[in-house]
Amino acid sequence: LPRPLALTNEEARTQLIALGQACAARGWTPATAGNFSVRLGDGRAAITRSGADKSRLVAEDVLLLPLGEAPPRSASAEAPIHWRLYREDRSIGAVAHAHPPATTALSLLPGALEGLKLEGLELLKVLPRITTHETSVTVPVLPNTQGMAALADRLVWSPTVPALILQGHGIYAWGPDAQAAFRHMEALEYMFDLECRRRQLR
Ligand SMILES: [Zn+2]
Repeated sequence: LPRPLALTNEEARTQLIALGQACAARGWTPATAGNFSVRLGDGRAAITRSGADKSRLVAEDVLLLPLGEAPPRSASAEAPIHWRLYREDRSIGAVAHAHPPATTALSLLPGALEGLKLEGLELLKVLPRITTHETSVTVPVLPNTQGMAALADRLVWSPTVPALILQGHGIYAWGPDAQAAFRHMEALEYMFDLECRRRQLR
């Protein structure tokens, strides 16, 4: 996989502000929920600070922090998840975390901890290396926790599905850059929303 392009500090801030606005506009970051990060080219990452309203981020809401050290609490309680993904997979250039409602609702169904399966949908082609709707993808679902650092340490994810869901909480989606991370989250939320509608029609 190609390595992500190195971003300047300014580009990183601009991308995170835009990512926050895009997710907030879709109703995925209620009550300051969510956090967003991009990898910098110098061993650091830029990440949104804890408690910031994602619809109106400013440059000061973006922290530039070394990936070689544990992130401070000011970064976000969930920053250790971002750090783990960047450390383990050099192809990841951006990580987005939000609370989109359809994804989160389906994560609460019985059996959801076995993963949420999507199949037969055109939009599956938004995911990496998928070229046909005639396939199925299972997005992992993990139990929610308030111990994000411990969760980060034991985190496992699929090399082919660029996302994981926390039950009753939200989703992490990632990609080589901020646009890809957003696109993956948007496609998954759309497909899970279709699944919610399909169940209502029964
Ligand atoms: Zn969250």
